[in-house]
Amino acid sequence: MKRTVFHCICLLTVHVFLSTFPAAAQHHDCDAVEYRAVLTFDMEQRHIDGAVEIVIRNTSRSPLHEVAFDLRDNDVTQVRVGSLSASYVQDDTVLTIVLPRELASLDTAVVHIAYNGTHRALTPGIYPTGVLFGEQVASAKAQSSAHWYVSMTCHWLPCNNVFADKAIYDITFDVPAGYVAAGQGSLIDAQCGGSRSRFHWRMRDPIHPHTAGWAVGPYFHITDEINGVPVDYYVLKSFHLRVRDYFVRLTDMIATFEHAWGPYPAEKIGFAMTDGGSLETHSMVLLDKNDLHSAATPELEAHELAHHWWGNCVTPMDLRENWLSEGFAMYSEILYRANSELQGRLDLHMAQYVQSYIHGIAVSEGIQPLYDYRAHGARYNYSSVIYIKGALVLNMLRHFMGDAQFYAGMQEYFRRYRYSNVTSTMFREVMAEFAADDLEQFFNQWVYEAGWPILCVEQVSDGEEDPLRLRVRQMQTGRGWCLYEMPMEIRVFTHAGDTLRVTRRVHRLDEDELLISEVCNKEVASWEIDPDEYMLVDYVSPTSVASQSPAATSL
Ligand SMILES: [Zn+2]
Repeated sequence: MKRTVFHCICLLTVHVFLSTFPAAAQHHDCDAVEYRAVLTFDMEQRHIDGAVEIVIRNTSRSPLHEVAFDLRDNDVTQVRVGSLSASYVQDDTVLTIVLPRELASLDTAVVHIAYNGTHRALTPGIYPTGVLFGEQVASAKAQSSAHWYVSMTCHWLPCNNVFADKAIYDITFDVPAGYVAAGQGSLIDAQCGGSRSRFHWRMRDPIHPHTAGWAVGPYFHITDEINGVPVDYYVLKSFHLRVRDYFVRLTDMIATFEHAWGPYPAEKIGFAMTDGGSLETHSMVLLDKNDLHSAATPELEAHELAHHWWGNCVTPMDLRENWLSEGFAMYSEILYRANSELQGRLDLHMAQYVQSYIHGIAVSEGIQPLYDYRAHGARYNYSSVIYIKGALVLNMLRHFMGDAQFYAGMQEYFRRYRYSNVTSTMFREVMAEFAADDLEQFFNQWVYEAGWPILCVEQVSDGEEDPLRLRVRQMQTGRGWCLYEMPMEIRVFTHAGDTLRVTRRVHRLDEDELLISEVCNKEVASWEIDPDEYMLVDYVSPTSVASQSPAATSL
């Protein structure tokens, strides 16, 4: 099945980002520890008044004289640092603040910023940017597919807009009576009555701006609990009677992921209906109402829930490592789908994605490696390669390591890097603790290299009493792709009606030979290589390459 639309970002509409923006500020010396904001909403005017206290820490060895935060669509009216007024400069994307006193290495300070902005109305058919005011709901989704900035949280909060800066978010929403704010973390306080209502949400665990967000709407609030974890649904009236039926699979999803990866990492499970796209906002998943009103799509909830383990909690160090988020969420989604079927087999699902990647996505998107895909021609932050090839590579790693070692490694990786940032190398090193080798070759060829093996496999033994031998030629070097080393499953059917399944290692050679000594030629009726077709491998027939050397083969 060819898949062109993914849950986090609609690939068909990302062209709207291709106007020119300045690059986001890089704030490596300033760590935002906590954001404490009050947002006051005028729903009719699409206007938000903001006041935020940002606890910052100087992480450099030198004194800090100024700090900068990404901020768009808002005008700053006042800045203080502690009790002292501070001067500042604001352009379209960055707010730079001159600290009234230098901040010594490792010291902290509290920066107070008053700001306000009028936001856009949702435009049908256009992928949204920034804060969106739809028909009934205002919402802030974070992820940006544009190359030039990581998250859209800077449209409602001055923030250090990088994956690697995790902070506590403490947000109070002041909204007109009749509206309810669905926020992240725990609801500390709710004051309703009179013409305004206030909802104070605070997160227990630190997250990055990329997974911050909220929704404000005329919600019905429905509560539940799964294994002691509270569940909050914030839905519109048109949907509130369908909530329990629609989310009937939620308990199974959580059970699948907890069994595979470890305990659910947030203090609550939350869903809020919005306009304009779905997103894995931590502990309050934002679901597009159009997705909910269409046919049931459990993969959508599964994908966004899975991000609570992969992406939200264990977070890529930067966008180059984004497959550690999207590939893992995609694999989790497929794992749930396979588990939810009677006799569902994960490899059968993965086989579909091999074909859709090689013959669909790689053709339309170009061919990129998983790591640093954007530097190799990917146009968007959320290119399909990181979803599909990412999931395929994880599945091959499971086969390479064996189920028990793979899941033990994944659970240790999750436990060790909860609410931290990770790289592919850090992932490899943890998995190698559970694998038979250091996995360097596996990661080099599947993560850092683009392309895939193109194999020509043929039987080469003749004598009736000779064991079965298969010659494997790697033809992809003609495209400039690397040679691969991998275990390969072979299924042999005998004339006696038996089926034999063996695994042999294909070495990093232009030509290799696999010996299957368990059977001799006269016993063999037929054979198949990679019988479940889960390997990201393409094949060419011996007749098509009979007279060509690998380097000269045009594929
Ligand atoms: Zn995703």
